[in-house]
Amino acid sequence: MGGNAGFKLIKAARVIDGNGGPPIERGAVLIEGDKVRAVGSEESVTAPEGAPVEEHVYENQTVLPGLVDGHVHLIGIGDGRAGDELTTLPDEILTLQAARNARAHLYSGVTTVRDCGAKNQTTLMLRQAMEMGITVGPRLVLAGRPIAIIGGHLNYFGTTATGTVEGRAAVRQLVKEGVDFIKVTATGGSTRTSISSRPSFTMEEIRAIADEAHKFGIHVAAHCTNTEGIRNAVEGGVDTVIHGMHHEPDGSVVYDPELSEQMAKNGIFLNPTIHQARERIWQLEEMAKTRLLTEEEQASVDKYNSKWEEDAAYWARVRSDGVTLIAGSDASWMWYKLGGTSFQDEILAHSDIGMTPMEAIVSGTRDSARSSWVEDEVGTLEAGKQADVLVVDGDPSQDVKALRNVVDVFQGGNVVDRSGVI
Ligand SMILES: [Zn+2]
Repeated sequence: MGGNAGFKLIKAARVIDGNGGPPIERGAVLIEGDKVRAVGSEESVTAPEGAPVEEHVYENQTVLPGLVDGHVHLIGIGDGRAGDELTTLPDEILTLQAARNARAHLYSGVTTVRDCGAKNQTTLMLRQAMEMGITVGPRLVLAGRPIAIIGGHLNYFGTTATGTVEGRAAVRQLVKEGVDFIKVTATGGSTRTSISSRPSFTMEEIRAIADEAHKFGIHVAAHCTNTEGIRNAVEGGVDTVIHGMHHEPDGSVVYDPELSEQMAKNGIFLNPTIHQARERIWQLEEMAKTRLLTEEEQASVDKYNSKWEEDAAYWARVRSDGVTLIAGSDASWMWYKLGGTSFQDEILAHSDIGMTPMEAIVSGTRDSARSSWVEDEVGTLEAGKQADVLVVDGDPSQDVKALRNVVDVFQGGNVVDRSGVI
């Protein structure tokens, strides 16, 4: 590779460092090799006297950290097919799809992803191909296969466990294969043989899995679609709760502030996947411009829209009770595709539930990096971190939609060639 030795100086109308403070007007980022060396005002940031430096000047643009999507499924197709069907495809096809998605997401400004579950070794094979220079993509934080109960959500990816002994064994097997964290499905989900309104693992099983993962210095993220499952996950010591709405077995939502307080106290992150369902609604609303929606389609649009304000208020309440919400798209699950500028829609959803644009940006940069345990490397523009940089037109600290106006993406100090944008 090479080509990134020496200094690069990025100057821009404003620099957002990802820590949530006001943007630095007329700011600059100095890069040495693949690392950020300094960030500050244009006057204060310069290369060492006499050193050759390559300048990149973005007169009217904004520079910010490369985005960190805290929840993807790289093997997904995003055409509405359920995981049950997706996983009937051979590993070779799924690995190629993962390569396509990884490239597309990188081009959209996402320089790190946490993949929350794939079939067999597909994502690990993608990583190997990327390390060989066969294909490009964001930095990968991989779960490999999620750990599920027999018949439980995502069991079709290839790993199930029963009891604490098998839970620990599953973690050890995944660690042996080179995963970066453990994904566990603490409740059912969309998987047809699972029950989304019920917990799956017991608290003791989750505790064994989390304990074993922590022993190896890796974190645990738990899929949770109901209150009892969240409670098991929180008591069991997981580090990130995914989805996380307080559903009762009958489907009703009964918010439990004490559970949120416990999450806040223990520093457990919440990835609410707000846009996942809305993406399909947007697609249907777009379709409605050219054809009549079926009764069923119209009903799902109406139902979603009538619930939106209640849902937004729900997430705002969770936040005000001290839980840190992090942005993770959950694409390409169901209808939500990776690439384009799809992760930006989840960040926008965070602003739509009441975050300021800057808070929403932090949820998709610094805080998603923290919840993925890669904050020492990425997520903010600070001296010593990876030079993963996104350049956009406009000012996303005023209007978060400006994140869609991708101008350039730097990965490890190099401009990503996006000429074949997909
Ligand atoms: Zn997911």
